[in-house]
Amino acid sequence: MQSITVLGATGSIGDSTLDVIARNPDRFRVFALSGRERIDRLASLCLRFRPKYAAVPGAVEAASLQAMLRVSGCRVEVIDGPEALAQVAAHPEVDTVVAAIVGAAGLEATIAAARAGKRILLANKEALVMAGPVFVQACRESGATVLPIDSEHNAIFQCLPPGAGIGAGALDGSGVRRILLTASGGPFRSWTLEQMRAATPEQACAHPNWSMGRKISVDSATMMNKGLELIEAQLLFGVAQADIEIVVHPQSVIHSLVEYLDGSVLAQLGHPDMRTPIAHALGHPARIASGVSVLDLASIARLDFEAPDPLRFPCLRLAREALRDGPAAVCALNASNEIAVDAFLRGRIGFCEIAQLSDAVLQDFGSHPAPRDVNDVLALDAKARTLAADRILRTVA
Ligand code: NAD
Ligand code: MG
Repeated sequence: MQSITVLGATGSIGDSTLDVIARNPDRFRVFALSGRERIDRLASLCLRFRPKYAAVPGAVEAASLQAMLRVSGCRVEVIDGPEALAQVAAHPEVDTVVAAIVGAAGLEATIAAARAGKRILLANKEALVMAGPVFVQACRESGATVLPIDSEHNAIFQCLPPGAGIGAGALDGSGVRRILLTASGGPFRSWTLEQMRAATPEQACAHPNWSMGRKISVDSATMMNKGLELIEAQLLFGVAQADIEIVVHPQSVIHSLVEYLDGSVLAQLGHPDMRTPIAHALGHPARIASGVSVLDLASIARLDFEAPDPLRFPCLRLAREALRDGPAAVCALNASNEIAVDAFLRGRIGFCEIAQLSDAVLQDFGSHPAPRDVNDVLALDAKARTLAADRILRTVA
């Protein structure tokens, strides 16, 4: 019986995770759930899964959750405050932590899980990307395992030789030549630049294949998501960025591929449904039911591929440049992107300004040594956020 904490239980990944857990009640027990908003949803999850703890941001949310639970006679301990997430992530009774908070907000709890040597099912790519070597080092020191649930990285993990992954070192000697990271191309894959300049948040969030939270939906539309995933792949598998190629595959059926020296290319296929990678990681090394329907290749009929367009999707270049410049630049890119996406979703900047803003912030940022600990990471993150916010103020004014 695995005891599981789900950080970000009220989001899209949280939903899919709890669906897989509910299908396998003999294997998993929910130890703790967290949510920032949608407290009524968190209350109904508590009633259904009966965790020991529920973690919320502050006293107001805690009081409201307690009131909802009291009516139903549900005895879940509600905790709040800045330490609550790390507490349920690092608790000695927990085996597995599903990191499904969006953005840098998930950093400290995910690092706490890494330091405590947990098995981490990582959806929150921003936490790994922003902390880079600090995250990897925390896993190495404690022996924490990271199983990717980002669909592409889960696919790569499934196609690599056994034992690959964070802390396991580079893939030298394994016969791997390249990683092919697939991208759907997002909702604007075939839009002109002019159309993209006028894109609204609703259009950017209408992903053709996946239903996801708003931040990652916008990242998919700018393809910054693929940029972050390139960095994620480099950190998870120890592969040089030159050995990772991005290929657009609009159907999202092939989730990524690994090419070997002998010319063999292994791919993982499946419906674009996050329950498959989540079930793979939850059950690993066993295979468990996910509720995903069978893949009917005859009805899919064709699989298409194309190279990404660097002109309409400059975020791919930004990610490669930041990787080349080192972990501090990567941290700054992630932070400025979060500020830019938020500003776009609030209607303060246009869609194409998301990439322009991050480009400008990276130029203003200057060079910094790689972060050595979480405080360094937070300082770099804060500096880039300030630069981005100042630029937005100047453009909007
Ligand atoms: P979402 O917006 O649907 O859910 C986010 C969750 O994080 C919610 O539970 C929310 O309450 C919580 N949260 C947000 N801000 C918080 C804060 N400041 N403090 C504490 N909790 C906070 O997002 P999602 O689509 O589920 O994505 C979650 C993560 O998984 C992201 O990093 C995303 O990139 C990654 N991911 C998502 C998908 C997908 O299909 N949705 C696929 C691959 C990777
Ligand atoms: Mg992905």
